[in-house]
Amino acid sequence: MDKENKETREKWKHLKNELAFEQKLVWDQLSSDEKDHAVKFAEDYKEFLNEAKTEREAVRKITGLAQEHAFVSLEELTARGKKLRPGNKVYAVNREKNVALFVIGKEPIWNGINLVGSHVDTPRLDLKPTPLYENQGIALFKTHYYGGIKKYHWLSHPLALHGVVIKQNGEKLNIRIGENRDDPVFVITDLLPHLAKDQLQKKLGEAISGEDLNILAGTFPLDDKNAKERFKLAVLELLRRKYGINEEDLISAELELVPATPGYDVGLDRSLVGAYGQDDRVCAYTSLRAVLNCHNPLRTAVALFVDKEEIGSTGNTGMRSRFFENAVAEILYLSAGDYNEIYCRKALALGKALSADVVAAIDPNWEGVHDKHNAARMGCGVVITRYTGAGGKYSASEANAEFVAEVRRIFNENKVVWQTGELGKVDQGGGGTIAQFLARYGMDVLDCGPPLLSMHAPLEIAHKGDIYMSYKAYEAFLKS
Ligand SMILES: [Zn+2]
Repeated sequence: MDKENKETREKWKHLKNELAFEQKLVWDQLSSDEKDHAVKFAEDYKEFLNEAKTEREAVRKITGLAQEHAFVSLEELTARGKKLRPGNKVYAVNREKNVALFVIGKEPIWNGINLVGSHVDTPRLDLKPTPLYENQGIALFKTHYYGGIKKYHWLSHPLALHGVVIKQNGEKLNIRIGENRDDPVFVITDLLPHLAKDQLQKKLGEAISGEDLNILAGTFPLDDKNAKERFKLAVLELLRRKYGINEEDLISAELELVPATPGYDVGLDRSLVGAYGQDDRVCAYTSLRAVLNCHNPLRTAVALFVDKEEIGSTGNTGMRSRFFENAVAEILYLSAGDYNEIYCRKALALGKALSADVVAAIDPNWEGVHDKHNAARMGCGVVITRYTGAGGKYSASEANAEFVAEVRRIFNENKVVWQTGELGKVDQGGGGTIAQFLARYGMDVLDCGPPLLSMHAPLEIAHKGDIYMSYKAYEAFLKS
């Protein structure tokens, strides 16, 4: 290569470095110590995923860790009439499914909060209110799926039953069957290919109906040969013996079928985590670790974990409920010793939020659905998504450019490896997060979370570098 050619090449390289935005690989940016840290972080994360497979389990786990890190419940503080001071740590739980962790800032709360909000509900199969029936000598449970699933994922896959049964007298039973090696699991049978000629002609979305998602519950009959519905009765008999419940008790129950599989390392190099429920517990866990590590922040730092995101943020534990603003009002009262609504509104309206949710990574098997110039890539760090929505940004909560610039500065100053991403090609589909409901308070909101492969599948895939960068991103934001 002659000298002149080499010089030109160097000049272009320099110009590109100076002018172009390029995704960086997290693994290229970390020191070997930080890489060890990221790998260890993923080990703790997998443990959390194995223990928190439902929204109630996640909230229990989050609350437990908060208590270990000196967070005190809002109820206890109110009962003691204790005034809140900067640096105090408080948590507020809503019906075991929704929780907020606050670290009181040096500035008054009405200057605005820094919030990271994620969701702890996940697509799954719920038992119907009267689920049990029998057919062809088999007792089965009927289910109603929750959230956006592809039904074929749930056939022939070992499932565990998690949830609660509340008896008429208020007694609560926690159920968790299928997670220990000697536990039974549950399964939905699939049609053998030999007889699937008609089924295989159907469209993928129509080949399995919601009413076909019935779970094998038992096949030993009741001893009495003359009894009617011997298989159903045998299961009811077993439920009474083991749990002291009857069929009516199942009406006041929340029983969820989730994949019985634990979290795995994926790939020869173990660079990926494969597990159920990473949308959005990857954001829940990383933002939890960030807030637990937040001491004496300037602005009040909040990690919020909500339920019902997957079905539209409805209900009194979803983001559309008043729980969060009520909790802020109580925090304000305990800080100031008085309450004036305008200060509560200001705390929210001057707030800054990251809507912490996952985004689809470009998948080499399904490249065609992405605009490769605007898609997130595995291993390139936490993703900021300026808008979600579908079909012309419909229903999007678009972040203001001023706020995007501020978040970008915080991340760059704190060496957070980040990238930008859009959910697929413009006319390919779309989705939303809790961002739009946070935005209603007037606060600035930006979607920000790691990219996933196989989102909403029973085994979702995340990159260990991206998981670690999400934690770093939320920590830097909460402390800003
Ligand atoms: Zn999500």
